[in-house]
This record gives sequence, structure tokens and C-alpha cells, in this order.
Amino acid sequence: RNIVHASERRAYEEAAKRLKLENEDREKIIPALRVRSRRKYLEKRKEDKLMELEADIADDEYLFEDEILTERERKERQHKKELLKLAQEHEKARELERIQRYHMPKDLGKGSTADYIEVDELEKVPLSEQKKWEKDQMSSAVFSFGSKDAVKKDEYELVLEDKIEFIQALPLLGTKNDKKQPELTEYQKKRLDIEETKKSLPVYPFKEDLIAAVRDHQVLIIEGETGSGKTTQIPQYLHEAGFTDGGKKIGCTQPRRVAAMSVAARVAQEMNVKLGNEVGYAIRFEDCTSERTIIKYMTDGTLHREFLSEPDLLSYSVMIIDEAHERTLHTDILFGLVKDIARFRSDLKLLISSATLDAQKFSQFFDDAPIFRIPGRRFPVDIYYTKAPEADYVDACVISVLQIHATQPLGDILVFLTGQEEIETCQESLADRMRRLGSKVKELIILPVYANLPSEMQSKIFEPTPPGARKVILATNIAETSVTIDNIIYVIDPGFAKQNHFNSRTGMESLMVVPISKASANQRAGRAGRVAAGKCFRLYTAWAYKHELEENTIPEIQRINLGNAVLMLKALGINDVVRFDFLDPPPHETLVLALEQLYAIGALNHHGELTKLGRRMAEFPVDPMMAKMLLASEEYKCSEEVVTISAMLSVNGAIFYRPKDKIIHADTARKNFNHIGGDHLSLLNVYNQWRDSDFSTQWCYENFIQYRSLRRARDVREQLVGLMQRVEIEMVSNPTETDNIKKAITAGYFYHIARLSKGGSYKTVKHNQSVTIHPNSALFEELPRWLLYHELVFTTKEFMRQVIEIQSKWLLEVAPHYYKQKE
Ligand code: ADP
Ligand code: MG
Repeated sequence: RNIVHASERRAYEEAAKRLKLENEDREKIIPALRVRSRRKYLEKRKEDKLMELEADIADDEYLFEDEILTERERKERQHKKELLKLAQEHEKARELERIQRYHMPKDLGKGSTADYIEVDELEKVPLSEQKKWEKDQMSSAVFSFGSKDAVKKDEYELVLEDKIEFIQALPLLGTKNDKKQPELTEYQKKRLDIEETKKSLPVYPFKEDLIAAVRDHQVLIIEGETGSGKTTQIPQYLHEAGFTDGGKKIGCTQPRRVAAMSVAARVAQEMNVKLGNEVGYAIRFEDCTSERTIIKYMTDGTLHREFLSEPDLLSYSVMIIDEAHERTLHTDILFGLVKDIARFRSDLKLLISSATLDAQKFSQFFDDAPIFRIPGRRFPVDIYYTKAPEADYVDACVISVLQIHATQPLGDILVFLTGQEEIETCQESLADRMRRLGSKVKELIILPVYANLPSEMQSKIFEPTPPGARKVILATNIAETSVTIDNIIYVIDPGFAKQNHFNSRTGMESLMVVPISKASANQRAGRAGRVAAGKCFRLYTAWAYKHELEENTIPEIQRINLGNAVLMLKALGINDVVRFDFLDPPPHETLVLALEQLYAIGALNHHGELTKLGRRMAEFPVDPMMAKMLLASEEYKCSEEVVTISAMLSVNGAIFYRPKDKIIHADTARKNFNHIGGDHLSLLNVYNQWRDSDFSTQWCYENFIQYRSLRRARDVREQLVGLMQRVEIEMVSNPTETDNIKKAITAGYFYHIARLSKGGSYKTVKHNQSVTIHPNSALFEELPRWLLYHELVFTTKEFMRQVIEIQSKWLLEVAPHYYKQKE
């Protein structure tokens, strides 16, 4: 009875270790973020105080001009004035210090290098010598741009109000100076046409070898630098070699939606076919393929779902699991699934393609599959660090972009930010400052890239930069490896990314901004060296890089909620998920918790088998809680409303538009949609009013609503309605029965409940964690006793985003099993 499998025990031990690490991680991350926001807060406080003092002095003078003052009053006033003067002087000194803190690296010319120190030397630096080391670094490698070049100095002194000082460290590992590097201007002049471009890619000389290797081996691991042509070329080679004969398809998975779309578009263009015909893509809620499609790009999640309808992937002759190094949850699970299929479908070819050094690990997992390496081609990248940490990295990005623009030779800039909001802030601020600079500087084309960007905007990033201008691309992590943008010479890397984190102890999952890993930082830097020697500006210190960043990013499967994945596996008939063939097993606790949650929402019975409800839930490409809410709308007769709410939540975040110059108008407009019941109902309001305006763009414009987000919500909604019909739920509308709508929501999200505590703050019911209503919420000032939240977002604290007020007795009604047992 007590026999424990050796592998299981190991899994336990590893899980325990990891969990401990995860908690430590969290503790490390939080103070870093706190410091940042606290500094901002203090600065704001100081400003306020100063203004208060000024107002106070003005008041004094206004009110008592012809009065006789007592000695004490006179002294007090004198004191205030002195205080103000001191404060002002202090501010000025600080401002000066701020300006002097920043320096720009001198242009190093064609591949010339400063005095690099060897890697080994860096390894040897002991912790206590940080200061000394940084000082040495400074003296050997700080360049104050313009100090030699008097003309430039004068010219740019007016231009830049702020500068950042960078120190340079060693060149990126694995890069060598290459004398043959093309001059950027030449590169720009010579726009190669598609055929030439294809032939110029590093993978091209290996075309025949690659095809032969695929013929000889069932599973092949492919490793090559980002931009070598893996994603765009290999499917085309295999198509030419006859792998699509007999009506079979070549599939290629991507971890990101934008990548799947943009790569498919590119390949369609290269093959001179219409996107959606021979070459197509499929992403969640959107299928752009047809009967004729032979090369199909899709997200890893989409392939996951395809397993449900075609468990043996019979329509494919080749499946490429691309960007394997990204280690997303879906990709990780796909490894196990395709490995299994390959065993009984000997005609299926499997390609696992990855940008970095994990190839060995993949090879081992796939029974020692051979590795096909595409030799990289990379120009040297000089790396610069800031001298001191930057408090506000978005602002620092803006300054750095302007600095590069004003002082460095032409060449495009790539900036890594964490999300749409940040990108928009940065974009506005840059555009604003460029406007003020007017014709003093060259043209700067500012282009954003993030997941929700409409595809017509996405294609802009690939358009060649006009002569004499510079492009700056503000991107999320997507530009790290999934999408290659040519002509990037400068990279600005603040060192953060957004990540989902799940704490299996508290059962809380939240999205937070975390420091990236060294591997990520090096990938980012590598983006600067694809077409010529480049520069990477890291907005953190060399010390932080060396001592504070983890080596590698933790795979998603080990840090997020697995409810979705487990439901999926169960729906595929994999009953023993604990024994599933994982590349890296998730923490045992997380798996158990996922099973528990699925049991609580009724997707599994007490044998751990999928129930009828669970089977229906698996039909929906949304997380189990949302699926449950959709199914519950049947009982509460409000399926129309719940489908709308689900669709709106799926495009969450980008619905309201808040232009800087009209913030007050925008906020008033937003408040008009507020529903006292909570944010879900406000979202319903927005959608229904838009529908009543006949889906008008003008209406969106007038109400400060992002038209494209609503358009997406409408598409998602249509898909969901189709799925509702598939599970035979009638669409009925009861917009005024808000309690019923809220009950349906509660039926799905009864895990996400918080209660007002005596101190006036909220605590989650399950684990007594402190949480706060997000300031954007309609209920921000209401403080109802019981709240249901859609998600938690961690910035300075845990914020509940999208909340509704509920009644506690509903919990007993919708989840009697879960709540009766616990209370
Ligand atoms: P890898 O997968 O090895 O990272 P890719 O196949 O994605 O490489 O990229 C090969 C080349 O195709 C790159 O030079 C890239 O700039 C180009 N490319 C990819 N997508 C597009 C696009 N949508 N428009 C123009 N060029 C593109
Ligand atoms: Mg690729």
C-alpha cells in the first residue's frame, strides 16, 4: 500500500523544492517593485508639499498685507520663506545631479571596441567589491558623448533635457568582430527582393541537408538563431520536397498569436498566394484557413484544441513545434502529446525548433532525436548598462530613444516594454517630445507591437524605413524571438516582462511585471546584431545583471494555474495526469490543486473522471471558470448577456480609450457606463449600447471607446454563440435580471470571492489574503460586503480587476459542495 513510485517521489521532492523557490522569488520581486513605486510616491509628496508651502506664503501675503504682525508671526513667515528657498535650491541641485548622472556612450565606429574585460574577470569580482569594480568599469568605458565633438555638443545640448549614463561591459558572448559587416547605409540602399532575401537567410545553404534529414528521421530537433529562417522557410522547403502531396498539411505552432498571423502573411507573400488559401493561420477565435490550405500556422493552444477533433493529427504529414524554447504551457504539453502520437503514426514527421541552447534537452526527451544546427550569423553587439538603477523605466526608455536619435548614426531602435499600456504611454511621450523638438532632429517613426494590435498595423513594422529617417519599435516580449524585425541596430532593454504567476498555496494567480532572465536579456541584445554591429542599452546596472537576474526563465507549466491544461488532458482521455510525460513536471501541489478546482466546479467526479458538464466545458476555448459561467447561464436564462460579458472580458484592458489631453472627458464618458452592480455589467452596458448604435465607429469615438476592441469582442462573441449552440444552449436574453446574470457569473467564479473585513480592506475568502479593488472599477468607492473578482493584477499590491457585488447566500446556491464544506 505504501509503495511510492520512484519517479513520483522525485517529482514530489522537486516540486517541494521549486515551490520554496517560487515563494522566495516572489519575496524578492515584491520589494523591487515597492522601491520603485515608493520612490515615485515620495517625489510626488515632495512636489505637493512644495506647492502647499508656496500657496501658504501667498496666502499670508494676501490676507495680512496691512496688518501689524506679532514677533512670532513675523518669525514664522520668515521661517516659511527660508524653508521654501531651501527646498527650491535642493530641487535645483537634484535636477542638476539628475542631468549630470546621464552620459551617452560615444559612437565606437565600425566595429571598433573599447577595452573589454574578459568574462572570467567578471566572474571573479567578489560581491563586496561592487563599488570598486563599477568604478573601474566607469573609468575604462564611460563615454560622455559630445565631449570631443564640440559641434555636436552644442547642437544637442538644447535638444536633450535628460540623459542616461551607460557603462559598457563585455561584448555579447559568442560574438566576434567581423570585418566584413555591411555598412548600414549600404544595407538600406540595397533592398533585396523576396527571392534574394530568401537566399540570403542562414538556413538556405542547408536546404537539401535539412530535407534529407527530415526524410531519414521521424523526429528532428532544429536549433538556429532567431531570424535564420526556421519559421518562414522550413515549411516551404518541405512543401517543395513533396511533403504536402496527397492532400496532407504541414503544421507549424507558435506560442503567440501575432507571430502566427504575421509569419503566415509573410509566407503567403513569399509563395505568392492569398493568405487563407494555400497558406493560412488559426488562432483562438479566428480561423483563416480553407480546404486548400497546405501550410498552416497556428498557436500552440489551437493545436491543443485540434487534438480534440483529430486525436491522431491525420491530416498532417509534418508538425513543427516552433519556438520550443519559449516553453509555454501549451507547447510543453504538446511535447508529450506529439511524442505519443509519433509512436503509432510512423509517417508523421516531427520537428522541434528552438532558438537557443535547450536542444540537448529536447533531444533527450524525444528519445535522443538528432539535432540539426543552423550555424548562426551574428554581428557583435556592444552592451551598455546604466550606472545607477532607473526609477521609472518607461521614462528612461523615452530619454534613451531621444539620446540615440540625436547622437547615433541612423539605424532602427527596438524597445522592450511589458504591455500595451506601457507601450502607449511611451509612444505618447515620445511623440510629444518629438513634436516639441520640431525640425531640430531627423524624422522618427514610432511603431508599437503587441498582441492586440490589429494586423494592418502589425505589417507596418516590416516596411522598410524611408531614407534619412529612423524607426523605433516599441514591442512586448514578442520581438524577443517570435518575430524578427530587420534593420534593428539599437536595442533598449529595461529588463522586465509581464508574467502570470500562480501561487498554489494561496490558489491565487496574478499577472505581474517581473525581472527577465539572463537568457532573455541576451536574446534581446542579440536582436541588435542581425544586420550589422549593434548596441544594446540595458536600463539596469551590470551588477544587477550579474547578480539579480536568474539564468533562465522558469517554464510556464511550473508557475501557472493548470486547471485549463488538466481539463484538456482529461478531455483527450488522459486520465493519469500526474504520470503524463512532461518535459519538466509541474509542481505536484499545482496539479493536485487543479484537480481539486475542476472537481469543485463539477468538471470531474470523485474518481477524477470527466463529467458530462466537464465534457461540455472542454468545448470552450476559455478557462474552466469562464466555461462554467457560460454553461450556468442556461439555468439562469441569460445566455445572451453572459456570452457578451465573456467576450468583453476576453478583450479586457483595451476597451476604454484615454487620450492624455482629454482625460477628464474620457473618464466622465467611462463613468456613464458604470453599473452599480459592478464592472461586468458596465462592460455589458458598453457592448449593448454599441450594438444599439448599429456597431458605429462614430459612437465609439464619441464615447472614448476603442473601436477595434469592440470589433474583436463582437467576433469572439459570434464564436462563443456558435459553441453555445454546439452544446445545445438556447440563446435567451434577460438584460434586466441582473441578479441572475450575477449568479451565473458566480457559478463560474466562486473561487474568486473577497469579503470586506473590519478594517475596511478586502480579504479573499479562501486564504485570507489582502486584496484591493482596482481604482478603475465602478465599485472603487462603494465597498460592498461581498465581491467577486475576475482577475488579480499585481503592481504595487494585489488589485482585483473587474469586480461585481454578490450576496453570500448565492455561494451556497451555486457551489453548495464547495462552500458548505468549508464554512
Ligand atoms: P526564425 O524563425 O529562424 O527566427 P524567420 O523565418 O521568422 O526566422 O525570419 C526569417 C526572415 O523573414 C527574417 O529576415 C524576417 O525579418 C523575415 N520576416 C518574417 N516575417 C516577416 C514579415 N511579416 N514581413 C517581412 N519580413 C518578415
Ligand atoms: Mg521563428
